[in-house]
Amino acid sequence: MPVVYGRVALIGLGLIASSMSHAMRAWGLAGEIVGHARTEETRRIAAEIGLCDRVFETAAEAVQGADLVVLCVPVGAMASVAEEIAPHLKPGATVTDVGSVKQAVIDAVAPHIPEGVHFIPGHPLAGTEHSGPRSGFATLFRNRWCLLVPSEGVPAEAVARLRSLWEGMGANVEEMDAAHHDLVLAVTSHTPHLIAYTMVGVADDLRRVTDSEVIKYSAAGFRDFTRIAASDPTMWRDVFLTNKDATLEILGRFTEELFALQRAIRRGDGDHLHAYFTRTRAIRRGIIEAGQDTDAPDFGRMKASR
Ligand code: NAP
Repeated sequence: MPVVYGRVALIGLGLIASSMSHAMRAWGLAGEIVGHARTEETRRIAAEIGLCDRVFETAAEAVQGADLVVLCVPVGAMASVAEEIAPHLKPGATVTDVGSVKQAVIDAVAPHIPEGVHFIPGHPLAGTEHSGPRSGFATLFRNRWCLLVPSEGVPAEAVARLRSLWEGMGANVEEMDAAHHDLVLAVTSHTPHLIAYTMVGVADDLRRVTDSEVIKYSAAGFRDFTRIAASDPTMWRDVFLTNKDATLEILGRFTEELFALQRAIRRGDGDHLHAYFTRTRAIRRGIIEAGQDTDAPDFGRMKASR
């Protein structure tokens, strides 16, 4: 595949950045990949495993001369990183991000972007519960969606170029506005994570009562929750702090549904429960048919996606 960007700077070297680096290398999409991470430890690991061609101590140094800068830090860290790199961006460069929330990232980053630099927020809908520079793999984005939220006035060629990078890494790309993105993600990702965190928390409380039975007899449903609830605490704290309105809206609806199911159980209303579960089963089938998951009992993530 032809090189899409001469030099790409990855700011933050965790799961998403390391997967991008492996994917760009695998398909020859970048001339040079440089990077920066906050801690000495992550920079040392990145250098040791050859994640980037060069690893810099500061984000300011890393972005100099880069054609594409990708902000791969938690959403709450975007503003300070943007402020630091702003004076060092090359005219004509594109700045994008991979944050899980879009409006908050736009509010945090856009004010710092200088004239002549294109800001195109993005979000690959791909991840695992693992984090850090060793956790990435080249096929993470294959057949996953990447949503782009181009700011007004950004040249179409700049958007097309970023789109071809993501497509080169195997993703399907779609454009969306920020408010819509944040609502859709509150339904499909953010609220489900909160529910998983809650369920595992409840089971942990129960464990103190039943000793180790929760772990010993943990069935597939609970195990799947624990996988989701093992996701990075910093990233998810920031998601809920920054996608507050949409998450609270969906949680409100969730609570109403939960009460309705609770009432059906109390009243012994089997028809209600059966009809509800039949409807939800069809949604699962739709996701598998759309190629967004496999039928494997572990969700097929590790086996199918690597
Ligand atoms: P990760 O594996 O935890 O890595 C985060 C990276 O950001 C680390 O290199 C960390 O550096 C750096 N960092 C943290 N705080 C920083 C700060 N204040 N200043 C500078 N660098 C900082 O995270 P990830 O999963 O790749 O997530 C990165 C972004 O992608 C987040 O915005 C997240 O919302 C988004 N995202 C995640 C997923 C997912 O499933 N994980 C999916 C889609 C999008 P140190 O290691 O040196 O601390």
